[in-house]
Amino acid sequence: MEVLFFGTRGSLPVPGPLTVRYGGNTSCTAVRSSRGTLVILDMGTGAFALGQTLAAAGKPVKGHVLISHTHWDHIQGLPFFAPFFGPANEWDVYAPRGPGTSLRETLSGQMQYTYFPLELEQLGATIRYHDLVEGKLMLDDVTVEAQYLNHPAMTLGYRLTADGVTAVYALDHEPFDPALAKGSGAITGADLRHAEFLADADLVIHDAQYLAEEYPAKAGWGHSTVEYALHVAREAGVRRLALSHHDPNRSDEAIDALLARFKAPADLELFAAAEGMRIDLAAESRRADAHISHGGDHDPAKMAMTEPAPGGQSVLMTQGNPLLMERLANILHEDKLMAATCDARDVAEAVQRSRPSLLIIMEGESAAAAIKAVRQIRDLGEPFGSLPIILAGQSLSERSNEELGITDRLELPFTDSYARTRLRAWLMRRACKWGLPPIPVNESERLVALRALNILDTPGDPLLDSLVTLATDLFNVPIAAVTLVDADRQWFKARCGLDDPETPRDESFCAHVVAHPVTTIVPDTLLDTRFAENPGVTGPPYLRFYAGHPIVLSNGHCVGTVCIADVRPRQLRQSEMDRLAKIAALALQAIEADNA
Ligand SMILES: [Zn+2]
Ligand SMILES: [Zn+2]
Repeated sequence: MEVLFFGTRGSLPVPGPLTVRYGGNTSCTAVRSSRGTLVILDMGTGAFALGQTLAAAGKPVKGHVLISHTHWDHIQGLPFFAPFFGPANEWDVYAPRGPGTSLRETLSGQMQYTYFPLELEQLGATIRYHDLVEGKLMLDDVTVEAQYLNHPAMTLGYRLTADGVTAVYALDHEPFDPALAKGSGAITGADLRHAEFLADADLVIHDAQYLAEEYPAKAGWGHSTVEYALHVAREAGVRRLALSHHDPNRSDEAIDALLARFKAPADLELFAAAEGMRIDLAAESRRADAHISHGGDHDPAKMAMTEPAPGGQSVLMTQGNPLLMERLANILHEDKLMAATCDARDVAEAVQRSRPSLLIIMEGESAAAAIKAVRQIRDLGEPFGSLPIILAGQSLSERSNEELGITDRLELPFTDSYARTRLRAWLMRRACKWGLPPIPVNESERLVALRALNILDTPGDPLLDSLVTLATDLFNVPIAAVTLVDADRQWFKARCGLDDPETPRDESFCAHVVAHPVTTIVPDTLLDTRFAENPGVTGPPYLRFYAGHPIVLSNGHCVGTVCIADVRPRQLRQSEMDRLAKIAALALQAIEADNA
């Protein structure tokens, strides 16, 4: 694996006589595997020189671009990247998506005519845009793991493994625990997770914009200190640490002086990334016996190209600290997230009822009450055992997250942008799994209505069997079913292309339709936070497309669906949706007639 630095400066390009050696261009690093797979990390102004180098070869170029986040210093070179213009070139561009806007929209924003003479659409190459969340993806022979960093914008760090070596790119990251900025102290919680992300890497390119003494004035700006980078790298057993995202105020001499202050242990090579620097990780590979176990297993269904916008998910907060509640509610509202509150004493019941994606427990007057609430939730077992629980408030309990059973903490004082980024990260991490179907408000009456049909676990009905066969032909799909959603399962009254007669409700697509009885179309499950990691998507039958029409009884209760599914992503035209509705109407007639 070859690593080439084209831009190492943070925040602002600062070319000039004082930055000749370390360089003045903003973040851009190229990585190439021995098989020739090209991965570009960020497209700051350094991307211009990289583009010239690639174009000079005079051959069509194909590659991948991983953007850490869309702050200017990481995308400003993009419109000047020559290989985006050649029609023979092919690119895939990946970045974490902000809520509401797609990557494509964000990137075209900086190329609006107010700012730039050409539009994104005028780039001649074939360019595909992908929105990322935390997770793993394969770019040919390069395994990429993405993990959220701590920065005022949604930012991903990337861990690349190929040729038996690993390089981690972690720019625009600030210690989660500000006390670690001085470079000492126990690494715990989210910082420990960060250290684990760097574990045993052959090379880590890490944010090191500040020195510990500069940090107090810059806390909350989203950058690390050299001391912190060194501390986590040492803890993580990293072999080489390249300090990067150099402060624009730092001259070549200042960077030399900075390096001279730090002494890394013998097994860690510490240096400052410099424009033009080339590192061949394969040639100087680790000891032959060293086995990199991190990453490597290729599971295409696990590709992280899921829709990361957390919109539609719900957050439950316990009452306490009205000012903080209002602030958080506003932030959630701006992100189109549903926020609900409950009394801390009723939290277990409220969680079971509303099935939130995230629970925030306010540590009000009584820390003991908050801790008790957490224990109640954890005692419910799965799926609530893994519900992200955040403890929020002022001067929180000193006990560790593990001891308290919480996922993380949000401690005052903090800025709104900090809270927003943290909330998004917790939710997106959740989004990597799958959204459990909400329970309808009238669930108990609904179940009574379903059971009154006397249809569950009964033999097949020839008419319904014909309808699902007809549906597979009509829509040219391998799977169709008449599904009934029971208390903890979905049972197929008729099915085509499905082996099991029933599946758990938590995995049921149709249970989502039952909770919200309208025609529901999922054009690509991998792009949908509710389904991307549903076991039916990540494993057999590897569903990529779903459409379900609710079966609503004449008494108003929705008992199930008529649904179709495919292993390929696709769309459903209005005329097809109408046909699905007609089939559902026939199924309803048959079901109610049987019962009459
Ligand atoms: Zn930056
Ligand atoms: Zn940034």
